[in-house]
Amino acid sequence: MSVLELARPEIRAMQPYSSARMEASGGQVFLNANESAWPPPGDDGLGCNRYPEPQPAALVATLAALYGVRHEQLLVGRGSDEAIDLLIRAFCRAGEDAVLIQPPTFGMYGVCARIQNAAVVEVPLADDFTLDVDAVLAAVTPAVKLIFVCTPNNPSGQCVPREDVERLLQQLDGRALLVVDEAYIEFAFERSVADLIDRYEGLAVLRTLSKAWALAGARIGCLLANPAVISLLRRIMPPYPVPLPCVAVAMAALSEAGQAQAREHLAVLRNEHERVRGALAALACVRAVLPSQANFLAVRFADAGATYQRLLAAGVVVRDVRRYPKLGDALRITIGAPAENDRMLAVLEGAAQDRGFSGGSA
Ligand SMILES: *Cc1c(COP(=O)(O)O)cnc(C)c1O
Repeated sequence: MSVLELARPEIRAMQPYSSARMEASGGQVFLNANESAWPPPGDDGLGCNRYPEPQPAALVATLAALYGVRHEQLLVGRGSDEAIDLLIRAFCRAGEDAVLIQPPTFGMYGVCARIQNAAVVEVPLADDFTLDVDAVLAAVTPAVKLIFVCTPNNPSGQCVPREDVERLLQQLDGRALLVVDEAYIEFAFERSVADLIDRYEGLAVLRTLSKAWALAGARIGCLLANPAVISLLRRIMPPYPVPLPCVAVAMAALSEAGQAQAREHLAVLRNEHERVRGALAALACVRAVLPSQANFLAVRFADAGATYQRLLAAGVVVRDVRRYPKLGDALRITIGAPAENDRMLAVLEGAAQDRGFSGGSA
């Protein structure tokens, strides 16, 4: 069975919008797209008076090399959030189909599913936040078109071992598209499963420049998948998803100098991760620091609500994740620069001291 048979039939039958930019190969004078002939002020040679390439060739080539896939296996868009939305709209018929997720996990899968009126089948992670492969497989019905697996998982932080991903792929045998979200894989010791795309038609991988590449503000993310899936999504994607200035900052970040800087920051982050973990674990107000291979820690507190407020009052904003199942006493803390982490720890150490001082009093 072809993976395309999982997609909505009306999308498979659709003719994509043909933009002026797509039809423009070989021209020298462009009078076809109702653009301005003059660059805007402050353009700096970018050429923002012209529409961008639908899939900027230089960026696609760079990203494909970075992720070890062929050009036709890669779609670049506005963050991996856009790819999640496109996948759900292309594969799930409203009111009929479903996606499968493993809570506690990234919220956008459920949000995009609800926008499309696709059902959300939940197979919770185990108590130790590992993925239960057999439970996931048992929950796959014909309505389930997409299975999202987040590794390392946000907000808990653990990786899904590669063997588990492979076992899912083997057992699914194309009954649903497995979407592996690797937003944090650069921070992990586990490696990407992108190389498995050639072997399994039913595998898609999400990557992003928002986290390890410091480009959350530029909104660049990728879907790596079978070429048939990539061209299907291009049919429903708006014609010019990646703005020229964003392409420029992404190319700079992925240059040799940019990559060297990213590696440097990654090394600092690894050290800080261990240091912060140790410091947090030693605090009286901390019940547990969950194992994490990402650039954040999920931390259980004796009183997470009060801790959140205390940090906030001191100007330190962390993520309250108490609404997630199994994390009712937890906050998610991003590992920042050393001075930022110090400030966060100082607030918590102060809190621990206060508790000590006031101990015994009403
Ligand atoms: C941050 C995050 C994303 C979103 O990435 P963008 O590329 O910025 O849209 C995707 N998945 C997970 C799990 C994330 O935490």
